[in-house]
Amino acid sequence: MSLVYLDHAATTPLDARVLAAMTPYFLECFGNASSRQHRLGREAAEAVEGAREQVAALLGADPREIVFTSGATEANNLALKGVAAAEAYADAPRHVVSCVTEHTAVLDPLRTLECQGFRVTRLGVDGAGRVDLERLRSVLAEGVRLVSLMFANNETGLLHPVGEIGALCREHGALFHTDATQAVGKEAIDVDALCVDLLSLSAHKLHGPKGVGALYLRRKRPRVRCRALLDGGGHERGARSGTLNVPGIVGLGGAAGLARDEGGTDTQRVRALRDRLEAGLLALGDVVLNGDAQHRLASITNLSFAGTDAESLLARLEDVCASSSAACTSATLQPSHVLRSLGLSEERIAGSVRFSLGRTTTAEEIERALLEIAAAVRVERSEGPRNLCES
Ligand code: PMP
Repeated sequence: MSLVYLDHAATTPLDARVLAAMTPYFLECFGNASSRQHRLGREAAEAVEGAREQVAALLGADPREIVFTSGATEANNLALKGVAAAEAYADAPRHVVSCVTEHTAVLDPLRTLECQGFRVTRLGVDGAGRVDLERLRSVLAEGVRLVSLMFANNETGLLHPVGEIGALCREHGALFHTDATQAVGKEAIDVDALCVDLLSLSAHKLHGPKGVGALYLRRKRPRVRCRALLDGGGHERGARSGTLNVPGIVGLGGAAGLARDEGGTDTQRVRALRDRLEAGLLALGDVVLNGDAQHRLASITNLSFAGTDAESLLARLEDVCASSSAACTSATLQPSHVLRSLGLSEERIAGSVRFSLGRTTTAEEIERALLEIAAAVRVERSEGPRNLCES
């Protein structure tokens, strides 16, 4: 029996159409996009510019505002450290505002900024993971250079009110960066309507390849100044040196194009499947939803199963792939900092599982997953957690 993959928030399978678009750029069209003197180089450069247009179109941006990176981790680092280091902001407040539930790819660069003498305010959240906009308003009044708040949370799917946050930042003269890694391709995004100045995204979360992403950098009203992290050949208008990953960038462009054409219908279908899964699991009893039931991505449900240990529960699932906390941090098996910030008990955190659906998820898979998870929860509750060290 094939696996039921319910871990799309960790990564998504590459869409076969994206792979088909990428393949020629590994083989016959292998030119360096900076080699403008010959046809192979020009073809590569044209492909990159086509991808830049596709990514820009998905965000309502100008193609010149897209900087290709190795992923969202690099995009976040470039946004935060780059704005902090830009000479144009030498007189601006050395104060950055973010939130306790951000991904480590934002939290860790913020720590670096703190070591460089920046003041960092990390907003707390309520029991559903929401920030208090009145608190944000009062912090902004103290003088802030940059606000970084994620579009959608990778563990609970919570959607921050990005448009309201953007408007508040604009009103107070602070730049607004959003880590939209989990939202791009799923939520409609228009950087102008939302007053977003910088935005990070990653191809592998939208059925594109791993190791490629982008940073949107606003060019007008206001023009964002951002110092490059890497010194080198001055690629990407000086924002990111290094020979361009042409096949990867073509893959990101293809994935963005598909998301633009099919994202809306995908989202409706995925929401219905997610709701079916969630209702079936809640009906098992002593299962609670973590986060905000209303304001969240259509693809994620994060549930706590009382009387279980998530690691042990997941180990009992032969054919269902899900995750006990963010894949990036689960190597350390630390209790989720996101669920902790929501004020959940250690027991509730220990029994929490994130199920995340995607384009490839089918109704038949959801029914199969429900049966297998229900059986695993029953065994886990009667036998107690498995000793994973011995298994
Ligand atoms: N931000 C968020 C919200 C994420 O979910 C992830 C991936 N887990 C990242 C950043 C890092 O993305 P990448 O894998 O492209 O570096």
